[in-house]
Amino acid sequence: MAKHIFITGGVVSSLGKGLTSAAIGMILEQRGLKVSMQKLDPYINVDPGTMSPYQHGEVYVLDDGAETDLDLGHYERFTHAKLRRSSNYTTGRIYSDVIARERKGDYLGSTVQVIPHITDAIKDAIRAGVDADCDVALTEVGGTVGDIESLPFLEAIRQFALEKPHGDVMFVHLTLLPYLRASGEMKTKPTQQSVGKLREIGIQPDVLVCRTEQPMTEEMAKKISLFCNVRQGCVIEERDVDFSIYEVPLMLVRAGLDRIIVDRLGLPKDRETDLVEWSRMVEGLRRTTDTCEIAVVGKYIELHDAYKSIYESLTHAGIASRCKVKIRKIKAEDYYTKGAELLAGVDGLLVPGGFGERGVEGKIRAIQHARETGLPFFGICLGMQCATIEFARNVMGLEGAHTSEFAQDTLHPVIHLMPDQANLSDKGGTMRLGSFDCRLAKDSLARRLYDAELVRERHRHRYEFNNDYRERFVRAGMVLSGVNPERDLVEIVELPDHPFFVGVQFHPEFKSAPLEPQPLFRGFVAAALAHAKNGGRSMARSLA
Ligand code: GLN
Repeated sequence: MAKHIFITGGVVSSLGKGLTSAAIGMILEQRGLKVSMQKLDPYINVDPGTMSPYQHGEVYVLDDGAETDLDLGHYERFTHAKLRRSSNYTTGRIYSDVIARERKGDYLGSTVQVIPHITDAIKDAIRAGVDADCDVALTEVGGTVGDIESLPFLEAIRQFALEKPHGDVMFVHLTLLPYLRASGEMKTKPTQQSVGKLREIGIQPDVLVCRTEQPMTEEMAKKISLFCNVRQGCVIEERDVDFSIYEVPLMLVRAGLDRIIVDRLGLPKDRETDLVEWSRMVEGLRRTTDTCEIAVVGKYIELHDAYKSIYESLTHAGIASRCKVKIRKIKAEDYYTKGAELLAGVDGLLVPGGFGERGVEGKIRAIQHARETGLPFFGICLGMQCATIEFARNVMGLEGAHTSEFAQDTLHPVIHLMPDQANLSDKGGTMRLGSFDCRLAKDSLARRLYDAELVRERHRHRYEFNNDYRERFVRAGMVLSGVNPERDLVEIVELPDHPFFVGVQFHPEFKSAPLEPQPLFRGFVAAALAHAKNGGRSMARSLA
């Protein structure tokens, strides 16, 4: 039977609860334990797939096609937990399941209520998230204690713990110790109040992880311990990291969190947490002196979280190439008005995925510049579609070529709607979602970088490369280096006479981790580093 850790958050949102949960999962894995990871989100959308990046940041896609919260990206980057649709539940999903059952007559005779029906459904969801052979199941509760929406989830985890032996369930609460610059002190009151709220519901946290800007003194830990009814040794400091999120697990182990968990849950103590490889990776990252700069030209560039996995994947590839990857964020519309001066001095261009027409012409112009000057280019999803359009217009001379997403009456729809998307009316969960096979062409750059013939990558799109134009693209010199064998869909395009020009219909950023960088990101950053080392001039094709 798996042990359970529930992670809640207090005081304010955006404290890095997902990151802390992922770090705890990673620490336990490094003690030889098998973990499962799950997130419960209090909002009413059935999943985040229909939310704009302004509301939610990145939508993270799993192998099984589930569109999930971006914290699941942290879970996959830090741990080997197998994530699937049951790794992320929202209030909307819980309620729609309960309401569907009510309509079927499953509750015949009873009044359907938050307690017990919704809380029972939440407990079922928690159980569904546990892998059969897992030792520890971690469940993060989204939102902040005190939110109205969070209440049913907190009530459910309280009940869940009550139904298990005391030694099988523990609660970790993440809070903030704000630092008041004017008086030069850190304050514990918000933490006291947040724990007070939890205790009102009937949850006594076993561990408090306190986010701080300044060191937490012994005296403060004592005070928090006293007021929050948490053992002093279990009041842990999690200081702001100065350069990398990958430091977090190291910091938590230094504070003794691994031992606290093992003691509290009665887990085996026959081995220590093995942080050798991870510490080496973080140290390597700290020491690197080589740098390359990548321009990301996107629509939501001002948002911190919209391209989270892409930024992380670039960092991972940097670890592999022993270089720091600096990111220059460029708004696609600005590129349209200001042009190539915005790319001066960069070593690579990445155009990420997206929806909606705004900024598309700017992306296309930036890609033209990269193609013509030999600047390494990596296009993802809409980025690949823009590269295809640019090539059609400027190399093949197909005037007005476009995607039918933005120009339904174009003479040359080189990107068009997938036939199975044509008659869909619902927006939620209806795109081409999840992992699909991609066969790589012999002698292509993609094949060399992956070092495999068949790979699987994750998708999230409605439009695709139009096969009616395939021959013409090939004749003009574009290599269609990755094709989905079942449906004959073009998944990768590349230009052989360019140092690095690759566009992919899928999202490789969902399959990268610090110790296992994604091969295409690796190749891209290696090409960008070669560009940087060559004084910012283009190079002949070079591989990592
Ligand atoms: N809007 C494009 C499509 O639906 C690209 C999607 C994406 O970049 N994720 O095909």
